[in-house]
Amino acid sequence: MITVTKTFFPDLKEYEKQLERVWKNKWLTNRGELVLELEQKLNGYLSTENIIITNNGTVPLQIALKILGNQGEIITTPFSYVATTSSIIWENCTPVFVDIHPDYLTIDETKIEAAITPKTTAILATHVFGNPCEVEAIAAIAKKHNLKVIYDAAHSFGVTYKGTSLFNYGDVSTCSFHATKLFHTGEGGAMFCQDKTLFHQLFYSHNFGHNGPLEFHGLGINAKISELQAAMGLAVLPHMATILSERKKVVDYYNENLDFNQLKTMTIRNNTTWNYSYYPVILPSEAILLKVQQALNYANIIPRRYFYPSLNTIEYVDQPNQTMPVSESVAKRILSLPLYVGLTTEELEQITAIINQNAC
Ligand SMILES: *Cc1c(COP(=O)(O)O)cnc(C)c1O
Repeated sequence: MITVTKTFFPDLKEYEKQLERVWKNKWLTNRGELVLELEQKLNGYLSTENIIITNNGTVPLQIALKILGNQGEIITTPFSYVATTSSIIWENCTPVFVDIHPDYLTIDETKIEAAITPKTTAILATHVFGNPCEVEAIAAIAKKHNLKVIYDAAHSFGVTYKGTSLFNYGDVSTCSFHATKLFHTGEGGAMFCQDKTLFHQLFYSHNFGHNGPLEFHGLGINAKISELQAAMGLAVLPHMATILSERKKVVDYYNENLDFNQLKTMTIRNNTTWNYSYYPVILPSEAILLKVQQALNYANIIPRRYFYPSLNTIEYVDQPNQTMPVSESVAKRILSLPLYVGLTTEELEQITAIINQNAC
């Protein structure tokens, strides 16, 4: 079976080598040696200075929203994984959707100002498929209206924009190290923050608010990652160059062989070094998408409808008057193609042939 993604497994011996350190230390969590080492190595790899690694990529969104969202209205994208919207609602904030750009698929920054009200506290936008939002325009809008900016950068591991890590943009930026993501720790994630005061608040918030064993800086929750997960990260990280070059080959194959008279893919924003995290194709209609999907499934190829549905249409989102024509249309027509290390040329030929034959 060919699925949309396959988790990268380092050699078991490499993982065991890291686990031996855990056994020797007899230390499983609460920011042990492996967690600290992984943070240091990730800062080095990503050229960032202020990472906090966490148990997944959703709790950091919740922490950022708790601190910066303040139960207000959050301007957000309807085209993302459900965690972007569900975290807003979970933190008693209100999502206010702004439609996306049809080519970049990120929030349309020219429509943000019209959505701002006195209740707006923050903007939470996703660098969807690792494609950067218009971060400079968004920063200018936020400054003008005194809003905070949170980026769901779950897909953005290793992406740089204008020569610096995409994680360095926004007041807080989060990432996911879930097994299906580019770099993974099984379950895991991270948050990044440039401001020292805010970083301190994020840091204690991710560990119950502790200031030593007996005192508390303030309210906190548990977003700590364990040594076992950090061990996986330390075993995967040395393979990033291979992971990226193998995925680039797949992306290049799709770019050269798909029939772009019948379908399109997203446009990567200028000044971006992308990470080959997803290969979305947008088909002319939902009917054609279903036809392509069925033909692929018949050949045991399972792409995923990333992202469907448009998040403004989810039943628990209480925003009946918000229609997002671009996002709703794209969400119905977009399919993420298989993309992982180890996909063979024969498999790529088969996938591409089926799509080109059925995308009309
Ligand atoms: C994967 C993902 C998340 C959630 O990350 P987890 O590590 O699974 O909690 C959040 N936002 C987006 C856009 C994602 O793709």
